[in-house]
Amino acid sequence: MTSLRSKVLCQAERICNHLPVFLNTFLVFSITGEVSYLVLVEAPLEAEQQKSEWSGWWKAVHLLSQYFMLANICWNALLFVKTNPSIKGVFLGGDGLGQGWRYCYTCETHTPPRCSHCFDCKVCVLRRDHHCVFFGQCVGFRNYRYFLSCLLFMWSGLLYAVVMNAEVFMVILKEGVTLHSILLLLVPWIMLVSGQVSARAFAFAFIADTCVVGFLLVSAFFFFHLILLCRGQTTREWYSSRRPYSLGLLGNLRHTLGLRWHLCWLCPLIPSPMPGDGIHFQVTGSLEPTR
Ligand SMILES: [Zn+2]
Ligand SMILES: [Zn+2]
Repeated sequence: MTSLRSKVLCQAERICNHLPVFLNTFLVFSITGEVSYLVLVEAPLEAEQQKSEWSGWWKAVHLLSQYFMLANICWNALLFVKTNPSIKGVFLGGDGLGQGWRYCYTCETHTPPRCSHCFDCKVCVLRRDHHCVFFGQCVGFRNYRYFLSCLLFMWSGLLYAVVMNAEVFMVILKEGVTLHSILLLLVPWIMLVSGQVSARAFAFAFIADTCVVGFLLVSAFFFFHLILLCRGQTTREWYSSRRPYSLGLLGNLRHTLGLRWHLCWLCPLIPSPMPGDGIHFQVTGSLEPTR
């Protein structure tokens, strides 16, 4: 009985862990589907512009850009999840027990500087940044490039979707700033449940809302990580105001994204070897917190 209960609990925990990934995938594909539909069928929504603009090649440019961004989001996300950032299988060496090395009582091993234990992944992670709850994976030395590229394409994709959906907002508001149009924009779920809008209008309003909220959230996250990248810090080091490993802008870019930092964001298949090993770091400042 106990084993059945623990099995059920284990299964429920697994489903809960994967829920954000399913939800994210659903939202990314729904938004892409909606903007593709806007381009192919509806765009431009203004009747007087429909014949003059949006020729076949212009629609093809839009669709190609959308699928380029979608492919990059999915591919980077897949490689981010598949790339193990932990110390598992890494020879840490016993000769470097110098400054910054610690002992992890859970993993029962000495760990190098910038490495810390993740209680969700239940393992120590090399140059750990944070545990990403959306993908159920830690961001560390080996998968930071995929994480940042995924964030970049999510940000640009959502910016594009917000611009495309701006017309949806305008069409809804064109009938006048009524209580109905405001409620449709702010609380489309309630309008659908109360039967005051069609499923089509709900889907457009819901996705347009999701794009705006998603864009604001992803923007905050993306620009925060760009600042960290330029400063050569991890999220943990940001909290303690330490910048002991900063190598200048170019050095930080090379040591975080790899030697082809200027190209690697274009496609996850472009190899970008890391100059370091994730264990040894050049110290350029004080290791003590400044505040
Ligand atoms: Zn550990
Ligand atoms: Zn983790």
